[in-house]
Amino acid sequence: MNDRESQKIVDYIKNFTRKHSLFVLAYGTGCGAIEIPPTMTSRYDAERFGIRGAATPRQADLLLITGYLTTKTLKRVIRVYEQMQDPKYVIGFGSCTINGGMYYDSYNTIKVLDKYLPVDVYINGCMPRPEAVIQGFIKLQHKIIEGRADGAKQYKEHLEEYKANQRKVLGNTPYIEEYNW
Ligand code: SF4
Repeated sequence: MNDRESQKIVDYIKNFTRKHSLFVLAYGTGCGAIEIPPTMTSRYDAERFGIRGAATPRQADLLLITGYLTTKTLKRVIRVYEQMQDPKYVIGFGSCTINGGMYYDSYNTIKVLDKYLPVDVYINGCMPRPEAVIQGFIKLQHKIIEGRADGAKQYKEHLEEYKANQRKVLGNTPYIEEYNW
């Protein structure tokens, strides 16, 4: 076996373990957050897929953004995301994260989440039911095992672009500048 083949096997094992142990930090920004308790508890039991809640950003692998963001909450979400350790993933949950949803013409909501943070998977719907949420988790797991869940890498590679977009709505707040990679 050559080095390349062994590296492939190691990557596969790493991704396999990541896929089956996703600790989720749910950031309940919008009404969709109400679907999280049934998804994570006994009725739909996301834990059978190796998915469970995390208490803090440092312990979390997956940031679940459950609905619309405002300019105020965007700041906090960026801060939370940047506190998470690699490897880390983001799911945008609900139509509001994709295109603003029913708040598309509001002056104070963020319309397209992936301009500001790298989104690995979107779950559409208003609000998505637990079955759709679990489907979104499974989609992310497929991307992880295939090595395609590279949002965090994209964020680092295109940090200037993301920061420029963030500054357009948030201004030059110390909140955004003080974090040091
Ligand atoms: S997509 Fe619908 S349920 Fe989700 S935050 Fe927006 S309005 Fe609320």
